[in-house]
Amino acid sequence: MIPEFKLYLPESVEEACKLRSELGPAAEIVAGGTDVYVKMHKGEHRPKFIIDIKNIPELKDIKGDEKTGLDIGSMVTHHEVETSDVVLKHYPVLFEGVNTIGSLQIRNRGTLGGNICTAAPSADGIGPLLVLNAICVVQGLKGMRTIPLEDFFSGPKQTVLKKDDVLVRILVPPVTGENGSAYYKYGRRKAMEIALMGITVYVEVNADGKSCSDARLALATSAPIPIRAKMTEAYLKGKDLSDPVVLKAAGKLVLEEAKPRSSWRSSAEFRRNLLRNLVPKIIHRAYRNVSSGVGYAE
Ligand SMILES: Cc1cc2nc3c(=O)[nH]c(=O)nc-3n(C[C@H](O)[C@H](O)[C@H](O)COP(=O)(O)OP(=O)(O)OC[C@H]3O[C@@H](n4cnc5c(N)ncnc54)[C@H](O)[C@@H]3O)c2cc1C
Repeated sequence: MIPEFKLYLPESVEEACKLRSELGPAAEIVAGGTDVYVKMHKGEHRPKFIIDIKNIPELKDIKGDEKTGLDIGSMVTHHEVETSDVVLKHYPVLFEGVNTIGSLQIRNRGTLGGNICTAAPSADGIGPLLVLNAICVVQGLKGMRTIPLEDFFSGPKQTVLKKDDVLVRILVPPVTGENGSAYYKYGRRKAMEIALMGITVYVEVNADGKSCSDARLALATSAPIPIRAKMTEAYLKGKDLSDPVVLKAAGKLVLEEAKPRSSWRSSAEFRRNLLRNLVPKIIHRAYRNVSSGVGYAE
């Protein structure tokens, strides 16, 4: 059973920030509730006050296109993301990541903002947003500010949000050049599985169609927080992405910056083996998707 709590339903972001600040640490924001209510049900979490932000209209829309970039309200659900035409056409890697989350029921309730704020190292929505250089727009009592998603996580399941902050929007800059991307979630079964490993790759290639002009690689469940593998990215720039020697070297190099740990799901050693073997494959898949124009085609 869910423990008793007092419910607040603010109708504006300002009101939500004020409530957060006044009610203090005993209050919890709820977006879709797929993390918060599950933890409460298990008895792992007992907030006295719930600030449910579902009645704030300005958090619920996806705006933008391939030229302006995306501007996604934090309350947009995973299902709204995965069925957005502009996401499918121009940001397929975001479709890919979000499409692997839970079940349709979970994706119908769970929000992109909730996925980011849960800050789980395994979150499937975060890697795609990291390689797309997403920016978080945060509002607090003192006003609005932006935080690159890369700087949003301060520790396992922790964010840099202050006690009066609400994540309001997620900005995704336009993608440029000849690009391809891919997300791969490794789990023991296909459905309703938390990622044992999540690998997201975004690459751009030069006019020769082979050499890499930009590479971005994000790893889930490979460190205490979701990370970008900057050393491996730097190594890939200028390299021929069809060369197996380059791909193998990337799989070796990534182990120098990933810090997977052992958990009841898997040992650190198994995760390191996954990285060594899967990173080359997913880079190659992203590279092949440059010409196919999609991020999810195999
Ligand atoms: C059966 C099941 C399967 C799942 N499978 C997956 C999976 O495959 N992959 C995956 O990544 N996740 C999975 N999840 C976890 C969860 O569904 C996602 O993380 C989801 O995106 C959380 O979003 P939410 O809106 O429900 O968050 P909530 O539960 O409402 O909130 C989560 C946290 O974020 C905070 N928060 C939410 N919105 C804001 C905001 N705008 N500003 C500030 N703080 C905010 C809340 O205070 C809370 O701490 C699963 C969960 C369940 C129950």
